[in-house]
Amino acid sequence: MGSSADGIVYCACGNRHWGHAGAAGILAWRDADDPEVIMQLRAGWSMSGGTWGIPGGAIDYGESPIEGGMREAREEAGLGPSRVWAATTLHHPDWSYTTGVAEASKGQRAIATDHESDAMEWVRWRDLEDRVLMPAFHQSMPLLEPLLGRSLLVIDSDLLAGVGHGAVSELGYSGIPSTILPSAVQEPIIDGLAAARDGDFRRTVALFPDIVIRGHAPAIEPATHVGAIPVSIDQADSQTANSAAYTRVFTVGAAVDGSDPIDPDAFFSALENARRSRS
Ligand SMILES: [Zn+2]
Repeated sequence: MGSSADGIVYCACGNRHWGHAGAAGILAWRDADDPEVIMQLRAGWSMSGGTWGIPGGAIDYGESPIEGGMREAREEAGLGPSRVWAATTLHHPDWSYTTGVAEASKGQRAIATDHESDAMEWVRWRDLEDRVLMPAFHQSMPLLEPLLGRSLLVIDSDLLAGVGHGAVSELGYSGIPSTILPSAVQEPIIDGLAAARDGDFRRTVALFPDIVIRGHAPAIEPATHVGAIPVSIDQADSQTANSAAYTRVFTVGAAVDGSDPIDPDAFFSALENARRSRS
């Protein structure tokens, strides 16, 4: 795998950060209805020591941000294989921080597995404010909250027959290899899912949904599987997907009852509504 990029970055934003290739962490959740997340009490000697944050650290050279975040979460919290459903990246002039939002596997315990934590606990999302939180994490909470939970993307292949079925392997400017969709489908998704500004720093948001393809047109074939993010493709009628298991359902093509059309405005208002309904 990658080689270490540990070290301090003197960033043009005026602050110092850890990790020459950027840093990443994993927000591991369970129970989307009343989510709990794995939180780390950072060791007293570390940056922001004595505050609660998420397990994470410097990305190695040659790793994707999600791979780096998962490795760090495995080292620090014993986080087992888990499904990443979403990611956000905060871009500084000379550094970046990516948060992968992952569903913990069943039975996942919260335990400190190395010296970088003084404690590791499952904490209810709505109780987080009772703790002294790492400032950067605290600021990110409004953005992260609507990303807790599962996403489903329903594609009506009959409506895509004319667009060509080339493979797409990268979510370009997030730098996170993610999904496999025709570009005619992917572009509105990227537009819809990405790009919000946070102070002077651009933030990108990406979802990595489960994908159901329905209809009779030629199937969209998965061509590449890159990065740490599994994508499931079911050539099935959307009826077979249990949409109740998903926090969000997005639709490309014909409307599906109870779901949202995928366009940028709809996406952001869906996020905003999800955030409001929780608070
Ligand atoms: Zn900076």
